[in-house]
Amino acid sequence: AVGVVDLRAEAVVDLAAFRSNIERLRAAAPTSQLMVVVKADAYGHGAATCAREARAAGVPWLGTALPGEALALRADGDRGRLLTWLHSPGQDFAPLVAAEVDISVGARWALDGVVATGGPARVHLKVDTGLGRGGASREDWPALVAAARRAERDGVVRVVGIWSHLSCADDPTCDCTARQIAAFEEACAVARAAGLDPELRHLANSAATLLTPAAHYDLVRPGLAAYGLSPAPAVATAAGFGLRPALTLRARLSAVKHVPAGHTVSYGHATATRRPTALGLVPLGYADGVPRGAGRSAEVSVGGRRVGILGPVAMDQFVVDLTGLDASAGDEVVLFGPGADGEPTAEDWARAAGTIGYEIVTRLGSRLARRYT
Ligand code: PLP
Repeated sequence: AVGVVDLRAEAVVDLAAFRSNIERLRAAAPTSQLMVVVKADAYGHGAATCAREARAAGVPWLGTALPGEALALRADGDRGRLLTWLHSPGQDFAPLVAAEVDISVGARWALDGVVATGGPARVHLKVDTGLGRGGASREDWPALVAAARRAERDGVVRVVGIWSHLSCADDPTCDCTARQIAAFEEACAVARAAGLDPELRHLANSAATLLTPAAHYDLVRPGLAAYGLSPAPAVATAAGFGLRPALTLRARLSAVKHVPAGHTVSYGHATATRRPTALGLVPLGYADGVPRGAGRSAEVSVGGRRVGILGPVAMDQFVVDLTGLDASAGDEVVLFGPGADGEPTAEDWARAAGTIGYEIVTRLGSRLARRYT
């Protein structure tokens, strides 16, 4: 509420770690330009601050999914190269053209929408090479590149890029990345045959930036790794990739109380204490992005010791077992962080919740304060 300082919890973002990850990614693809993906509020880390920090670190490109995310960066003063790719039929492309945002075009309706602005627009043609999501399918490549070439001749658009997205870059044992690279080469050849000469071919996400040099082309587009999470946990941890998790999610215990054996905890009465137990109340819940189901196996760190969660996570709070600890209300609880002091990582939470690190950080709620160090 206005005028009340929220002491319950905060997401602390270590910008030095973010910069160090950017350097790691630059070193992994030294001959490619770097685009840092800042969609979904920079994977929960705060888009405006991360964008400014990335630019200060010399990152030439930023990428967003939603046009509104790109325009918000422009409103915040960002003037660098910026690509946005998730458009909707009927969308007005004029604000993007006016803001000099590069526009991904993967379908005829999107090209028509861009042409309708009168330009001049910078577009990146999106081709589907096997992910089966956005982008023109193989049979539509010739028609799309021909229409883009006509629009270029008319001076309305400039096709500066051709690009695609990988489906299995986190699994180097799978041959799908090689097959997608081969399909991408074909798409580039189709574009060249139509007289297009996009200077930027791009395909690599975080995993491919770190694992697959053949996918680097002219520009790489990492997101997750910039924030210090492993994009391929089956291959290596964040530290194994030389990455530093930037975000620490901390709270303060809002209550500690002692209950006898057989005391039920949280909704559903499915969990009961087996012995006299010290219960600690953590004022964060699924409305803040703490996965409801993770309670069964996730842990948090209190005073440097790992403790378990009792009962399901509720909307705004959950309960931990503090038995044997000398903890009191106001003490710090670390849900996840870099792991350096024994606290769990976002990857640990992802495992406990049966999901991926992406979901853990991007779901952190808007009512959670962000602080930058
Ligand atoms: N490029 C596109 C089109 C994406 O949608 C994403 C995110 O999913 C990325 C790049 C970055 O992917 P990652 O976070 O795996 O590096």
